[in-house]
This record gives sequence, structure tokens and C-alpha cells, in this order.
Amino acid sequence: MKKINFSAGPSILPQQTIEETAKAILDFNSSTLSLMEVSHRGKDFIAVMDETIALFKELLNVPEGYSVIFLGGGASLQFCMVPFNLLEKKAAYLNTGTWASKAQKEAKLFGEVIEVASSKADNFSYIPKDYTIPADADYFHITTNNTIFGTELHTDLDSPVPLIADMSSDIFSRVIDVSKYGLIYGGAQKNLAPAGLTFVIVKDEILGKVSRKIPTMLDYKTHIENESMFNTPPVVPIYAAMQTLRWLKANGGVPAMEKKNKEKAALLYAEIDRNPLFVGTAAKEDRSIMNVCFVMAKGHEEKEADFSKFAVSKGLDGLKGHRSVGGFRASIYNAMPVEGVQALIDAMKEFEKQNA
Ligand code: PMP
Repeated sequence: MKKINFSAGPSILPQQTIEETAKAILDFNSSTLSLMEVSHRGKDFIAVMDETIALFKELLNVPEGYSVIFLGGGASLQFCMVPFNLLEKKAAYLNTGTWASKAQKEAKLFGEVIEVASSKADNFSYIPKDYTIPADADYFHITTNNTIFGTELHTDLDSPVPLIADMSSDIFSRVIDVSKYGLIYGGAQKNLAPAGLTFVIVKDEILGKVSRKIPTMLDYKTHIENESMFNTPPVVPIYAAMQTLRWLKANGGVPAMEKKNKEKAALLYAEIDRNPLFVGTAAKEDRSIMNVCFVMAKGHEEKEADFSKFAVSKGLDGLKGHRSVGGFRASIYNAMPVEGVQALIDAMKEFEKQNA
């Protein structure tokens, strides 16, 4: 039996995505050729790219005036591409975790960075709420889900300047109002596809306003004008993304995912709050519905290794927390069935009994 995959990323994908991609790797569209060896400019792959972008736009309700592009380089390259393309004088950043800090570090190479608020002093266990976004900033950057610390912004913020969001680990997990954002980006390796693919949703009118020269490959306009085909795109991850988006659509789209994700998260947090052996690390109101972080409760710290082993014996994989938080992190992305979450809860209950 397949293990239950709680890994933070690369992470669980719909079985359909994995099987259909495996089939296409052996024989793409009955061509006898592998998806890995066909031209990205052939008509069969162009149809894949077109369908993937169309589904991406449809499922997120991307309004007119926005482009969706697929790039390489991971979300980490976006930490630099965003300021390269958008920062003329100064930008505002909300510091909610390791990835947010890394994004901010890159922006400092291009201009002044205002950190409007930070929860660093409390090991990023909450999302700061009281801050002012400077109205003269070129943009305001947020990380909507903090994969390492298990905190999440649950609403689309109002911002007087273009709102830029790293949605690597919560894209397609809840309904968002794209029109409130100037740009959304993320690595695909959580809710969408295997690693190697980066998505960017950008409002066309925010581009072309900086005075610096932008290298061709780092200019969003290049990729918009060339429909993500300026250079060879990551063909296999794009095909896998198309399969995930088909699966998402067939399963009720983002509203249905949001409902299911909230139910899964509520079940797991309820057990963490009930079970005397465990305690959640994120502030309750900011708890992520994607990455659920918890540690052994006070007085039970020495049982951590035992629970780790116990979980592995139950077929639960990838639960180890990030080293900066410790303990455990259950990543329960879209493809995680409620049965997977229930298996973890059952293991926590059984461990509690054994340690009574
Ligand atoms: N931002 C967030 C929120 C992430 O979770 C990650 C990766 N876990 C990154 C950025 C970095 O992504 P990549 O590895 O694709 O550069």
C-alpha cells in the first residue's frame, strides 16, 4: 500500500496526475514517443500548454487584463524577478517567515525596502495585523501561506499599492479574488505539479514602469509576449499541472477544495487541541489549512522520537517539522484525502493511549 505523504513539498499529488503523466512519459498521445522527447513547439504540446493556461485562468477566475505565465527557477527566482521588474524606488514587505525574509533580502538589491511588520521575534508564530502600507511604495509583498511555520493569511488584503503575493503553498486551496493582486507567483511543487515549474499571474498594466534595463529572460514581458515559450518550458511538469487542473475541475473546482481543506484542517487541529500530548505552534486565528505544525506538549518532549517512529510504522510519511520549528508538520494539500488526515488522528489517539 502507498504511504500517506505529509511532505511539505515536493508533496502529495492526485494519483490521476501521477498515473496520466507516467503514461504520457511512455507514450504521449499515442505518438509512440515519450512526452520527454517531443518538441515543445509541436502541435500536441502546444495544445497541452493552451489547455493548462486556460484551466488555470478558469479555475482561479483570472480577470481580463492579467496574464498567466509558466517559468523555471522556482519561487526563489521570483524573489528577484519581482523587484527587478517592479521596484523603482521603494517597496513594502510583510515579514511572516523564512520565505518572506528571503524575498525581502533580494528586493534590497534593487531599492529601499520598508518592512511594515514582522513576527520574527516570536519565531513567526503569527501574522502581524497592525501596520500601514506606505501609499508611495511601488508594491506591497506578502507570503500568503508560510509553509515552514504553518501560518496563513485567510483573506485577500486591501492594499493602496499593487499587492504581490507568494502563493507557493496555498494556490488553488481557497477561493481568491485575483483582481485584488498585482502579481501572484509560486513554485508548482505543492498543489499543482512536480518541481521545475513556476507560475506567475500578473496584471499587465503594472509592468513597464521601471527605468532600469531588464535582462530578456528576467523580463515578464518576454514571457507574456512569447506565451511562455521564449525558451524551452518544463514540458513534463506542465503536462502534470494540466492533469491536476483537470482533476481539480472534475472535483468541484476551488470552492469544493476550500471546503474540503477547511474540514481536514479543522479535524486535525481539533485533535491537536484535545490530545494532551501535543500542542500547535501557530496562533489559532492564523493557523494554516495547508501546513499544520505541532510539537510535543510540555512535559512530553522526550516522546518526540517515539511518536516519529510510531507514525512511520503506521505508514505516515514526511511528518518531520522544519528544523526552525521542530516537532511535526502535516502538510495536507488539496490531494490529501480526509482519510489520510484521519489516519494521522487515529495514530495520535493510539499513541496517547499507549502513553497513558
Ligand atoms: N515560498 C514559499 C512559501 C515556499 O514554501 C517555498 C518552498 N518551499 C519557496 C517560496 C521556495 O520555492 P522554490 O523552491 O520553488 O524556489
